[in-house]
Amino acid sequence: MLPRPLNKGRYSLDILGAKTAGFCFGVRRALELVQGALQTTTQHNPKIPLYSLGPLIHNPRVVKELAEKGVKVVSAIDEISAASGKIVIRSHGAGPSIYQTAARRGLEIIDATCPFVKNVQQLGSFLAQEGYQIIIFGEKDHAEVKGVLEAIGVPALVVNNLQDTDLASQITAKVGIISQTTQETSRLSQLVAAIIPYAKELRVFNTICSATSERQRETAELSRRVDLMIVVGGRNSANTSRLVEISRNHGTNTYQVESATEINPDWFHKINSVGITAGASTPDEQIAEIVAKISAL
Ligand code: SF4
Repeated sequence: MLPRPLNKGRYSLDILGAKTAGFCFGVRRALELVQGALQTTTQHNPKIPLYSLGPLIHNPRVVKELAEKGVKVVSAIDEISAASGKIVIRSHGAGPSIYQTAARRGLEIIDATCPFVKNVQQLGSFLAQEGYQIIIFGEKDHAEVKGVLEAIGVPALVVNNLQDTDLASQITAKVGIISQTTQETSRLSQLVAAIIPYAKELRVFNTICSATSERQRETAELSRRVDLMIVVGGRNSANTSRLVEISRNHGTNTYQVESATEINPDWFHKINSVGITAGASTPDEQIAEIVAKISAL
C-alpha cells in the first residue's frame, strides 16, 4: 500500500500521509459503544452515571471531550461509590474479577474489549489448560497484559526486553507464546528464536493484531521514503510510541506530537519530504490539523 500524497507545499515540501493512520477498528468500536450509552443515559435516565475504567483511549483530547459529555474516568472499580451506573471496559479488556465486582455492585457493564484482545485471553487460557508454560510478549504494566494475565489464571512470564530476561533459568520444556496485540512482529520473532534452544515443545500464537502490523509496516515503508517523520498520538499510547521507535530505527528524524501547536517550523528547514502517521487512538481531525499546520508553513 503506497502512502497518499496530502499536499505539495509552496517550497516543494512533499507531505505524505499513511493510509493506516488514525482510529483502528477496536478504538472506533469502543467510542461508538460509549456514544451509544451516553445517548441512552441522557434520553431515558440522565441520573445514571457512566464510568470508564481507565481513560477510554490513549488520547487526552478525546478523553477530555468524553468527560465533558459525562464520562467519568476511574482507575479502580472501588472508586465508584454510586449504587448504580454503567461501567465501560476499554478495548484493552479486563480480567474476570472486574466483571464479578461490577455484577456484585449492580453496575451495568458496557464491554468494549476489542475482539482481538479477547482472542489473546482465550488463546492464553487454552495454552494454560494444555499445560504449557505461558510467555506473554508485552509490557507487564499495560492494561491489556494485566487483563490477559488475570484471564489466564495461572502464573505466566511477561517478556518485553530480551536483554533484561534470563531465559535459560526460566524456560521449561513445553512453552506457549502469545503477544500483546500492539507489539512488533520482528521483535516477537526474536523472542521465538531466543526460546527455541531451551524448549522441547514450542507453540506460538501470533496475536499481534492486523491493524497494528499493517500500520507498523506502512510506517517503516514511509520512513524510508521521507526526510522527516511526524507521528501523531498521545504520549501515553504504547502503539504510538512503537511507531516512533520503528521510524527512528530506520534512521529517519522523527517527532511525536499530540497537537498542531507542537509543530516547530525549524524541523522543516532544508527538507524535501515529510511523512505523517498516527497511533490507533488518534482522531482524523487531529491529523488534519497537523497537516494543515505543516502545509501553511
Ligand atoms: S490496536 Fe488492534 S487489538 Fe488494539 S484495539 Fe485496535 S484493533 Fe483492537
